[in-house]
Amino acid sequence: MTLNNILESNEVFKLQNYIGGKLIEPISKTYIDNFEPATGKVYSLIPNSNIDDVNLAVIEANKAKEKWANTSVEDRHKILMKISYLIEDNLDLFAEAESKDNGKPEKLAAKVDIPRAVQNFQFFATAILHYNSSASETIGTAINYTLNQPIGLVGCISPWNLPLYLFTWKIAPALAAGNCVIAKPSEITPLTSYLLSIVCIEAGLPAGVLNIIHGNGADVGEAIVSNDEIKAISFTGGTSTGAKIASIAAPKFKKLSLELGGKNPNIIFADCNYEEMLKTTILSSFSNQGQICLCGSRIFVEKSIYAKFKNDFVKLVSELKVGDPKNSNTRIGALVSQSHFEKIQYYIDLAKSEGGTILTGGKVGKIEGRCENGWFIEPTVIEGLTYDCRTNQEEIFGPVVTIMSFETEEEVLKYSNSTQYGLSATVWTENISKANRIVTKLDVGIIWVNTWLLRDLRTPFGGVKNSGVGREGGFYALDFFTEKKNVCIKY
Ligand code: NAD
Repeated sequence: MTLNNILESNEVFKLQNYIGGKLIEPISKTYIDNFEPATGKVYSLIPNSNIDDVNLAVIEANKAKEKWANTSVEDRHKILMKISYLIEDNLDLFAEAESKDNGKPEKLAAKVDIPRAVQNFQFFATAILHYNSSASETIGTAINYTLNQPIGLVGCISPWNLPLYLFTWKIAPALAAGNCVIAKPSEITPLTSYLLSIVCIEAGLPAGVLNIIHGNGADVGEAIVSNDEIKAISFTGGTSTGAKIASIAAPKFKKLSLELGGKNPNIIFADCNYEEMLKTTILSSFSNQGQICLCGSRIFVEKSIYAKFKNDFVKLVSELKVGDPKNSNTRIGALVSQSHFEKIQYYIDLAKSEGGTILTGGKVGKIEGRCENGWFIEPTVIEGLTYDCRTNQEEIFGPVVTIMSFETEEEVLKYSNSTQYGLSATVWTENISKANRIVTKLDVGIIWVNTWLLRDLRTPFGGVKNSGVGREGGFYALDFFTEKKNVCIKY
């Protein structure tokens, strides 16, 4: 299969692993079904890889390790830029693939996911040119300088919600820093990482520098985390998976970066720019069917504007078009899998049993034609719940938000900080003093004031509490993917 005809095929095609610079079958020669969420049908087969494929990738990566570490940053830059241009040249194809595999609107994939994957490669390809070592003089005695050296072999494991976007967010800095990578995309959304392997071959990335292994978390993911030759693990996914990974990696003293779940508050004060807030809150609640770790799923609104907000918000949400991800007017596509679809329905029922009232949505989305068996749920707004009930404490990760009112800053801070999570928060107010006061007291790693998901790739990205350990982005990512070696010279 080539990049161009892969999506045109009517046959169920087999994806392959990318190991040692080649596309190859899994050693088990067995495959896992891959579904199109919008239709509920199997459309491709994913290599059912295991520890044997990981061991093979480690052998190939070890062969490539020294040469890649000693490749000049200018040459690494050139190859990574070439990869970015090839993705950009095939943007429509990548977007179509991401939408088919994930269920997200194709328009969203073309506007957000794929351009960001291109940016990830371009950002780290250039960042490495500016990444320098530091020197410290011990006055009158010695000079110290610190080398930033590649770690060697590193593992990157990513989730299904922003498949290529998050996969490349890890791989690009790891490669730029001179490491060889053993990477595993989510088994639920493997297609664009497979396309990436074809692009890497075309770009001339040396064999063994990047190895992409498909398969289940328990088989491939754990084999990567457990392998003694892989010295650092960058993981994005659920909090319980993060805990499992930490329990395996910590006794082996591996470097760990864990980007985990969230239950983010969206705090709306009466003195906000109302129109801007309303428009953005629709996006921060339901973009990608609410399946972005940074979506604000708990909306807290100051009491004096609560009734107006509820009325306006519910009206706009009820107008969001649920439909075939291929249609350009679709705002809400399919949920990623049958089990996730069932999980969201479970949480809607739970909210009702906890005393919640469904203001709009709450039902399975019925789409006629090609998508009649797809996994759609209407965007759902719930009120009448307490801040500490399960619906408001557990990560749902779907098109479901709760709304509730508050009267004081202390009260909304108590609600906001009440969960086990601490990933991000959004604050809406035109009062800069109030904004500054609130942000210092929110227990999260990322805060947006009067905006949402406005990203500058130089900034630290990550959560606190059970939302993770460590920071990605900018030089923080290059710091993670290098070992610091200090040299002290007495004079
Ligand atoms: P997941 O934890 O089920 O899977 C993530 C990846 O880990 C997949 O590739 C999976 O195959 C692999 N995996 C599963 N078990 C493993 C194991 N035992 N050892 C090693 N690897 C294993 O998560 P998901 O359902 O794919 O993604 C949704 C979760 O990701 C949500 O909780 C969401 O909040 C979180 N997320 C966090 C961020 C962030 O930046 N903090 C970004 C996106 C998604």
